[in-house]
Amino acid sequence: MLATIFDIKHFAVHDGPGIRQTIFFKGCPLNCWWCHNPESQDVNLEIFIQVNKLDGKEFKRAVTVGYQITSKELMDIILGDQVFFEESNGGVTFSGGEPLMQSKFLQEILVLCKQKSIHTCIDTTGFTSKKTIEMVANLADCFLFDIKIIDNELHQKYTGVPVDGILENLQWLDQNHKNVILRYPVVPGITDTEKNISDIKFFLKSLKNINQIDLLPYHNISKGKYTRFKKENKMKDTKPLSNNDMLYLKSEFESIGFKVGIGG
Ligand code: SF4
Repeated sequence: MLATIFDIKHFAVHDGPGIRQTIFFKGCPLNCWWCHNPESQDVNLEIFIQVNKLDGKEFKRAVTVGYQITSKELMDIILGDQVFFEESNGGVTFSGGEPLMQSKFLQEILVLCKQKSIHTCIDTTGFTSKKTIEMVANLADCFLFDIKIIDNELHQKYTGVPVDGILENLQWLDQNHKNVILRYPVVPGITDTEKNISDIKFFLKSLKNINQIDLLPYHNISKGKYTRFKKENKMKDTKPLSNNDMLYLKSEFESIGFKVGIGG
């Protein structure tokens, strides 16, 4: 079977426990205003024209974003880092985009990793069917699960999809004692409003087993990508939050008994 991916990061240390290899799947059903990887959203291969200037002349070349890979080829790349996984209690993280958009391939590669006793994490938006969540939950060791906005209308406005099914999937993982680390992208004026923070805290308090959340501060280092890939950047004037703002938010989630990280 083939998957479409757009990057593989070796020696990642923020995508789950230990040293990890992170596989970035191409394609995402969401369209978040603050997306740091706009080139990840379309599941198809995309060709962009890159323009370089030298001595007043323009040099153009076509650059393809994404490539297809078989499960055998990907497994060979994963196994190349196995010694580092074993030394550090690390493993592989499937990220994106949204890895669950290519769930059949993901299932296949999760089975292969299990056969080799390689620890696996799925970094997901949670926007998928209950059947898919249940299927991968039986194979993966850990989820990095986004929680962005609780209000359904606002979630729809800023990400392009409703939140109710996402929260139901999260509740199912919680009720079934799956290992989940939440990830909260802190986006000024959108996800960090007083109302949304209070809604998230209320929702988190209803969870029985999940008790860890990483706060991911918004940054605007992807500005150049929007220009390069000719995508509209709705956040171009947004400034990142200060360290003090992030520390304040950390204390908010610690106050409800969560273990809180900044970054992740
Ligand atoms: S879920 Fe992630 S990859 Fe998908 S659009 Fe949002 S920020 Fe981008």
